[in-house]
Amino acid sequence: MKIAIIGAGFSGLACCFYLLQNQNVTITVYDRKGVGGGASAVASGLIHPYPGLDGKRSQFATEALLEAKNLIQMASVVNQKIIIGTGIIRRVSSEQQKENFLRHIAYYGDVKRVDEKVFLIESGMTISPVKYLQALKVVCEEKGAIFKKAEISSLADLSGYDRIVVAAGYGVKELLLGRPYKLNYIKGQTILCKTASAKTMSIIEKGYMAISSEPNCVEIGSTYERNFLSESPCLETALALLKPKLETFCPNGSVVNCFSGVRVTRVGHYLPISERMNEKVFLLTAMGSRGLLYHAYFGRKLANLVTSSV
Ligand SMILES: Cc1cc2nc3c(=O)[nH]c(=O)nc-3n(C[C@H](O)[C@H](O)[C@H](O)COP(=O)(O)OP(=O)(O)OC[C@H]3O[C@@H](n4cnc5c(N)ncnc54)[C@H](O)[C@@H]3O)c2cc1C
Repeated sequence: MKIAIIGAGFSGLACCFYLLQNQNVTITVYDRKGVGGGASAVASGLIHPYPGLDGKRSQFATEALLEAKNLIQMASVVNQKIIIGTGIIRRVSSEQQKENFLRHIAYYGDVKRVDEKVFLIESGMTISPVKYLQALKVVCEEKGAIFKKAEISSLADLSGYDRIVVAAGYGVKELLLGRPYKLNYIKGQTILCKTASAKTMSIIEKGYMAISSEPNCVEIGSTYERNFLSESPCLETALALLKPKLETFCPNGSVVNCFSGVRVTRVGHYLPISERMNEKVFLLTAMGSRGLLYHAYFGRKLANLVTSSV
């Protein structure tokens, strides 16, 4: 089976990895920027089961986290510096959030209480997304995948393939023109900040501070911009929106860089889309803010769907 994948972000690479576990597949991955040209490369690397302000456990979190950690482990054979920290601090700001985390202690056992308003998510970790993407690409290449740096302007460009996996992140907006999916596109920006004191664990609340693989730096994020003119970074807007977080997490720090990307989400739903669109085309997108949690689990699911399709 000759398969083309559009997009070498978390979704495309995970699906590629699982497709390669089958005999008789040849896979070509197309990405206009090579690898990590979209949201994945600018993600802050936080992975844990409790995204979202309310602190509820995400659906399929147990199996998704396990699958994601396995894939990260697989890529770590290529680069041992992918994981930059284990455990994530969660500060709660309401009684409801506190109750949710107390419940997680009882039901899931991967959370510890640190004090009245602070919990430790022991199952959480922070990784370097760029190192992870590069290593996962190497793993897939070693198993036979071919990577091409090319923009696909229409699915018709790939007519020579038996199956097409669209894992194009924000690129689905153009590629799926006219198709019946209700999607939101939300720009996110982060600020990389140099700190005086070294930080060893990421902290999340409303907004977050993620530890970084850049020496003495942390990443402050993220904005949630529904109306944006350009997907490129705009430091002025990022500074304005993240000012309170910078004051909390990095009071005397200096700004080093600003990153931006666009998250794709499903309207009214936070689970990704991992499904067959038609005889030939399969869609893996709408990872929202949970790309690291969900990419491997839904990537495997889609790979199974592709190889079982006739
Ligand atoms: C600022 C920010 C911080 C984030 N932090 C986190 C975090 O800490 N933890 C977490 O789990 N999630 C985080 N996210 C969300 C996460 O980044 C996304 O869920 C995830 O990256 C989506 O992965 P993807 O592979 O579906 O899409 P993408 O990473 O966007 O990949 C799509 C790829 O397709 C390519 N492409 C698009 N169109 C075409 C085309 N026509 N032809 C060829 N190639 C094409 C692009 O170049 C790109 O490489 C963050 C998002 C943002 C914006």
